[in-house]
Amino acid sequence: MSTSQQHARRGPSRGTAARQASLREHNLSLVLGHVLDADGPVSRADLAAATGLTRATVSALVDLLVESRVLAEGDPVQTGSAGRPAVPLTPARGTLAGLGLEVNVDYLGVRAVDLAGDVLESVVVPGDHHASDPAVVLADLTAHAEAVVGRLEARGIDVIGAILALPGLVDPSADRLRLAPNLGWADVDLSALREVAPFDRLGLTVTNEANLAAVAEWRARSRHLQSFLYVSGEVGIGGALLHDNAVFGGVRGWSGELGHTTVEPDGPECACGARGCLEAYAGKDALMVAAGLDRLGPVADLRARADDGDTAALAALARAGWALGVALANFVNLTDVAHVVLGGVYGPLEPYLRAHVTAELDARVLTAPRSDLVVEPSVAGDEAAMTGGAVEVLRGLIANPSSRLPS
Ligand SMILES: [Zn+2]
Repeated sequence: MSTSQQHARRGPSRGTAARQASLREHNLSLVLGHVLDADGPVSRADLAAATGLTRATVSALVDLLVESRVLAEGDPVQTGSAGRPAVPLTPARGTLAGLGLEVNVDYLGVRAVDLAGDVLESVVVPGDHHASDPAVVLADLTAHAEAVVGRLEARGIDVIGAILALPGLVDPSADRLRLAPNLGWADVDLSALREVAPFDRLGLTVTNEANLAAVAEWRARSRHLQSFLYVSGEVGIGGALLHDNAVFGGVRGWSGELGHTTVEPDGPECACGARGCLEAYAGKDALMVAAGLDRLGPVADLRARADDGDTAALAALARAGWALGVALANFVNLTDVAHVVLGGVYGPLEPYLRAHVTAELDARVLTAPRSDLVVEPSVAGDEAAMTGGAVEVLRGLIANPSSRLPS
């Protein structure tokens, strides 16, 4: 999601043509980034003013992007008494798609999103992936992805890439998932997955699910919330810290393991082997079991029980809210983050968690009396990591727009 442009290295062996190609790539990035990040349609004149490029240069670049089905032109509108009417430019709808995939503990899925942000396809398959066989689960995911890509291509939509979200520690340098405690997966080689259809032609990459869910949140808020902590409440609890529009990944991309921060050193055992982790109180399994519900059931069951005033459900939510507040207080004290977004299953449960979370934050965050710490539910929708993966694929176009141009 970084909006910085990549500049090709200009070595002495490269000639004028290469420099011009590099310059065009840079300018295409500028123009495309402005259109994708605008709050509404923009004109060629708007783009010239915003980028400092000439009207002629902007027009030539826009023509290329329209021809490539990256941008769309609307009907001309007269904006003033003089001059030609302006043609509004928007991200193209239903032409190119990014594919976001996810394996989580109680579902897997595939979602395709276009440049306009419309969901073109979404398949979510509930399942029980506790202590599962990665080969079996990933084969199932691959079959669903193949079907989705086939349907999109039949509609004339180009799928330009795919990102898989996993609830654990992904090591891209080694092409491995190092650990996903709730799946029971450890040291899973991902290279074979990238070699099977349809992933072999989509350049599949793999990322932590909370990081991608945070991208979906950032996009859903029209990029106006630039720094926040996203809490991904699933069976496991992930966290992603966005700072200045970029996910802070840590040295290896493994930061944000909020679910394994300690709430009580002698607390209940966690799937990771330690005791008293946040997940053991506030993960979806912990919440459902404490409320006397099937851990594989939908979180709507818990919400319905709470709405009915069920004592066990309310007690489970109070305990989870307390634990979440304790963990978040530690996080806020360490990072000075001012905005916390509760995502995943916490979205529908937030009304029952809020008071317990904020009570702990008020009591434990040193700056609480002097800051405006905001805690609110996610607006990114269900399975946000799938959406975020698709969005991230499409944002890759800004860094490499010529990949879509006619050769
Ligand atoms: Zn743990």
